[in-house]
Amino acid sequence: MKNIVLFGPPGAGKGTQADLLKIKYGLIHISTGDVFRFNIKNETELGILAKSYMDKGNLVPDQVTIDMLKAEVNNNPESKGFIFDGFPRTESQAASLDKFLQGKNTSISGMVALEVPENLLVERLLNRGKTSGRPDDQDESKIRNRFNEYESKTAILKDYYQKQNKYFGVDGVGSIHDITSKLEEVIDTL
Ligand code: AMP
Repeated sequence: MKNIVLFGPPGAGKGTQADLLKIKYGLIHISTGDVFRFNIKNETELGILAKSYMDKGNLVPDQVTIDMLKAEVNNNPESKGFIFDGFPRTESQAASLDKFLQGKNTSISGMVALEVPENLLVERLLNRGKTSGRPDDQDESKIRNRFNEYESKTAILKDYYQKQNKYFGVDGVGSIHDITSKLEEVIDTL
């Protein structure tokens, strides 16, 4: 199995690239943000809970997110592998994911990280907010808070995977096509 963690700060292009990569490699793309947004739209219990955090740009609590992720993986037992997009976002999520995959006799093949400077990210997110309808993309203070969450809780995951020799940084500035090619160069080796 190929299990890829597609990593990077908000606005790095993870969703766009995951949509292309899942086709090329025949993997299931799980975006925890998308699953939360689907639940918000359908006003499920999970959606109502997640919304109270997402609206402020805060992370949804670990246990809620981990349980949801496990259910998504378990719903796709025939998959050749997964692209995890927006998960894990904390060390506790990463450790739970490792344990969960181990129980299925598989593991993370690698974390592939899109590296983009912050000033470009804010610009991209505000632009996306004009068309995506995402409330967390339309307000600069919410965007800044998402970066704070990223810096304080998520960025350390680089070390987590580096310690396992599984971290691969890719320059996330350039055309969508060029970035896909650079990601493929890495993923082909995993
Ligand atoms: P995203 O679509 O990945 O930018 O995620 C949007 C929002 O969903 C985040 O700002 C968080 O509030 C929430 N979220 C998505 N994935 C996670 C996660 N792995 N852990 C906690 N919260 C998450």
